[in-house]
Amino acid sequence: MNIQTGHFGHSADHEKVDLYTLTNNDGLQIKITNYGGTVLSILTPDRNGNFDQVTLGFDNLKQYIETSPYFGCLVGRYANRIANGKFKLNGIEYALAQNNGDHHLHGGQKGFDKVVWQARKFSGKGEMGLALTYQSQDGEENYPGTLDVSVVYTLNNDNALKIEYFATTDQRTVLNLTNHTYFNLAGTGDILGHELTLNADRFTPTNHTLIPTGELRSVTGTPMDFTTAAIIGHRIEQDDEQLYFAGGYDHNWIINKSDDALVLAATVFEPSSGRLLETYTTQPGIQFYSGNFLDGAAVGPDGRIYHKRTGFCLETQHFPDSPNQPHFPSTMLKPGDQYSQTTIYKFSSRQ
Ligand code: BGC
Repeated sequence: MNIQTGHFGHSADHEKVDLYTLTNNDGLQIKITNYGGTVLSILTPDRNGNFDQVTLGFDNLKQYIETSPYFGCLVGRYANRIANGKFKLNGIEYALAQNNGDHHLHGGQKGFDKVVWQARKFSGKGEMGLALTYQSQDGEENYPGTLDVSVVYTLNNDNALKIEYFATTDQRTVLNLTNHTYFNLAGTGDILGHELTLNADRFTPTNHTLIPTGELRSVTGTPMDFTTAAIIGHRIEQDDEQLYFAGGYDHNWIINKSDDALVLAATVFEPSSGRLLETYTTQPGIQFYSGNFLDGAAVGPDGRIYHKRTGFCLETQHFPDSPNQPHFPSTMLKPGDQYSQTTIYKFSSRQ
């Protein structure tokens, strides 16, 4: 296994950006840049040992800076939406960028996906990785508190990519970190034939602007039921209010768990290639997004056009709009607290 470092260009603020290529003993290869802590590509074998890109992305920094629909990046400070960009802490109301209609999405104008992280490579027995750190200043994107964040990507020889998130703050703040990789396990075409299982009996329904209503609703009898494997495309066009609001799947499922243990949250199987992706997480929620807003504007290497539903995301997270929903698990971080979350994407194949 090895990690190679290359130059990837400069950010809009003229900061030097690098590209790291991690290759394990199985030949599984992951490219990560410290611009946005972005996973550019993941190359994995199918059931016959043929390698394909199983993620959506670009091969140059310019496209990430100018047009990326959050391909592969780290998202913060608050992944997903905060209603009207407003929340209160200690009686003070904070007003964030309203960059998604009236709402705040994925950390605002210049979220963690658009900053340059400090990177350090490491390797150990049977694994290697990249440790990324970033200090977000008090008031950055209008969030309170100076926040020291680190994200550690580790690839092992069992074809698992582990992402650990750590943070501390010097003032009360809110935090919800995730990674926004779009997967397509066939390496081509759309994702409608993939089979998805979610370890979730409930989800958080939204209004028509994708803000949770506050209800924790059972998936039983609805197109949101992935408690047993179901083909993503089978029910996506059903006449269902939740699917209509989001133009497909773009919802937070409540993972069946009671504490912060690491559990299997999602399994995706792609029948033609035999590729399997398992997602484990310590987080309470997972946003399954079926790439409904991809519109063909983004074009990848070799002219691959990223049309609607050519990729899906499994964003492990706290629930959207938690700062305004007191009965959702808290996203508040206080001085002295250590924020710590882990997500693992494990790749394999079967017949
Ligand atoms: C959201 C989508 C949004 C997308 C942006 C997802 O996390 O749930 O609604 O359009 O990110 O790429």
